[in-house]
Amino acid sequence: MKKNAGYVWLIPVWVLVFFMTGYCGMGICFAYSRSDYQQFQNAIIDHRNRLNKKFKKIRRPETRYVIVHTSELGLSSTLRVVSKGKQFKSGHSTPGGHAHYVIARNGRTYRILDKQYRADHAGLSMWQGKQDISAVSIGIELVGYHSAPLTDQQYRSAAMLIDILQRVYNLDDTAVLTHSQIAFGRPNPWFPKDHRGRKRCAKNFDRARAGLGPTLGFDPDVRNGRLLPDPYLADLFYGEQPVAAQVAATAPVSNRISKNNSAWAIAGGDYDSRTTVYVLPGDRTLRGDQINETIGWHLLPVNTKVLLDQEIEKKQVQVFQTPVKVITDRMTAWSHAGPAYRFDSTIYFLPSGRIFTGSRIPDWDDLPKKTRLIVGYQGPFHITDAVTPYGIAGQKYKDPGTVYYLPPGHVRTGDSITDFSNLPKGTQVYLPLDDIG
Ligand SMILES: [Zn+2]
Repeated sequence: MKKNAGYVWLIPVWVLVFFMTGYCGMGICFAYSRSDYQQFQNAIIDHRNRLNKKFKKIRRPETRYVIVHTSELGLSSTLRVVSKGKQFKSGHSTPGGHAHYVIARNGRTYRILDKQYRADHAGLSMWQGKQDISAVSIGIELVGYHSAPLTDQQYRSAAMLIDILQRVYNLDDTAVLTHSQIAFGRPNPWFPKDHRGRKRCAKNFDRARAGLGPTLGFDPDVRNGRLLPDPYLADLFYGEQPVAAQVAATAPVSNRISKNNSAWAIAGGDYDSRTTVYVLPGDRTLRGDQINETIGWHLLPVNTKVLLDQEIEKKQVQVFQTPVKVITDRMTAWSHAGPAYRFDSTIYFLPSGRIFTGSRIPDWDDLPKKTRLIVGYQGPFHITDAVTPYGIAGQKYKDPGTVYYLPPGHVRTGDSITDFSNLPKGTQVYLPLDDIG
């Protein structure tokens, strides 16, 4: 074998270049080699057999677009919803098949439905006058939120997957669009006619990081008068300063109502959903489907906080009033804490009994269910024979905002503890940051 040792160097450079696809992002150019593509394709996890049996497979005669989504859920619930369908409180459900591919935060890619079939992913949608975009497109779900950064690994997988699909269907970069670009809504309190902005889905998708060139410079359906523009999205996708718009897309959007930030601007088409929760000044909470009959859309007080994708339980009011949040199927660390999920003032109590601060959490999707967390806290302060709860928290030691960790594994608020003289050894106290200094 030794005589062949230098053989590889005889391959001309242009042959290597031929097998590589350029990828430029954030000012740096990368390239994926043919073996990167092979590894990527071989590593796709096949979830096709998990599809809801009630889903009807219909061949898609034509493929004009690739539509990118953010799932607004963690990985396990994303996979379940796209395969099995959505369950609504009304009892109504969908038969699944809501994406062709899912890309997890670690870049792992799942095949949900064979790409030749129609997936129901775009809903009420229009592009270049054509409606029902699901009938002519591939749908890719990125696990994440439209207001949260996507990961490098997701962009890497998205770049390769989209490139492969573009070759298969002979699509140029303008055929790759986000759900927020193609969705439209019927008239509502803010728009008298059909309009853009029903979805904010994947508005944070950075095309350059996925190896894609720019989108069309204008919205064809707005230009032709078929739809009214959504001011926010119009600026984001087709504004004068695309770079500034990209920064705006990934910057956290304020979730508080103000003169320039309506419920619509924050929640889009989910403004009146029962999973959108409005926390009014003074902590009164209302669901999106209760606003119309109680306050009215144009009378929501300034500073009302809008929480998207909330899990609504019977104990809803309690859930919003206790500072101890729980990670569930639907509620991730991002849904509870937003960008603060990785602050040191966010404290995680894992089911295993371990305690972490936010900076030690790799990603919001990496936490097990039943993990509890508190946001905006300082501690731990240790209770000892010499240091009492009163010594730590003063008058507030039995307040609902004061949080106790009682070994092994109990997290309680001050108001729920009856006997402070008998706290277990190793009890810790956490205090809200607002109360300190
Ligand atoms: Zn979407």
